[in-house]
Amino acid sequence: MSTDAALRARAARVVPGGMWGHLHAGRMPPGYPQFFTRGEGGHVWDADGRRYVDLMCAWGPVILGHRDGAVEGAAARQAALGDCLNGPAPVMVDLAERLVDRIAHADWAIFCKNGTDATTACVTIARAATGRRAILVAEGSYHGAMPWCTPVPAGTTAEDRAHQHRFRYNDIASLEAAADAAGPDLAGIIVTAFRHDNVVDQEMPEPGFARAARAICDRRGAALIVDDVRAGFRLHPDGSWEAVGVRPDLSAYSKALGNGHAIAAIAGSEALREAAGRVFVTGSFWCAAVPMAAALAVLEELERRDVVPWLEHLGTRLRQGLAQRAVAFGVGLRQSGPVSMPLFMFDGDADFAQGRAFCAAALAAGAYLHPRHNMFLCAAHTEADMDEVLRAAEAGFEALRGA
Ligand code: PMP
Repeated sequence: MSTDAALRARAARVVPGGMWGHLHAGRMPPGYPQFFTRGEGGHVWDADGRRYVDLMCAWGPVILGHRDGAVEGAAARQAALGDCLNGPAPVMVDLAERLVDRIAHADWAIFCKNGTDATTACVTIARAATGRRAILVAEGSYHGAMPWCTPVPAGTTAEDRAHQHRFRYNDIASLEAAADAAGPDLAGIIVTAFRHDNVVDQEMPEPGFARAARAICDRRGAALIVDDVRAGFRLHPDGSWEAVGVRPDLSAYSKALGNGHAIAAIAGSEALREAAGRVFVTGSFWCAAVPMAAALAVLEELERRDVVPWLEHLGTRLRQGLAQRAVAFGVGLRQSGPVSMPLFMFDGDADFAQGRAFCAAALAAGAYLHPRHNMFLCAAHTEADMDEVLRAAEAGFEALRGA
């Protein structure tokens, strides 16, 4: 029995379903490991010692590379002093200053742990600031796993999602209709940096749509919230909607901010400062100093290494290489979204059978891909890694031809 299988058998006895949430290997194609023992740069090793070029990067947190030297050095120096204390370490102020300098719309920051902490706090702050209840949320957008936003309603109530109105991403008319439905109760609009919903092609935000969201909030005195948890720092170093020229009032960050250390941030503009100081948002580990030291190093390294153009370079190499091979193998492959956060899906593959067969074969050839969720590149990836992924993809295309 493989080590992974033995661990799964033990986990099945002491963990419901053997694993919970989005990292459950049962959601992945056959052959995907559940357990990993090591990560280094752009690679991960599973519990049976197999090495993969890692195109999930922990589903986003790893942006510089696994075990980045600068980040781990900063974390270790802080760990030697203390992590969880009776208040924050001085590094919290350094980090807040750095984030406020970096994020174009931000005048202040609050730190927490997970993306859901940050999106939930943004909604809370918007409601506190306006004294209103209604929030506009795009159909199919993921903002986390709390009862107000989880896509799986088991164990939640309809009341958990009260005071929400839906619109379609990039659809101005539906956004305006949702705002009208909210009427004078409109507290805010929450919107992801681009459309990266599960199992559909990705869409960049249309500038007109982003401007309409800004205009509705301005006209009605509501807060515009950009959920930059997934895209943050991968598209634009100053905030993802800088690319479309629209500044939110609140933004939520997590994932890449700590390069794998548990940290999230709420960034806000001056008008929301008072409300942010009034709400009670906190947690036992929210002020832990080690992830803050790590995040400060991440922000410094992102700037020093000018990461965004490198991710775009690698992503373009991957996208072009996949497109060429799809044509050569006569397979209808759709690629969408930013090249640094690639998503591919196969034409006519409603049940993802092709995607699963492709990824299973690519995995056996050494590339850890995802058949229906966007993937993530990191700064430690090299051109040689992308070429290795393309060779593994050829095994995937072969598998489709065989099927
Ligand atoms: N918002 C977005 C856009 C996300 O992608 C995620 C995580 N996938 C979240 C919020 C929730 O973040 P977390 O899982 O850290 O709570």
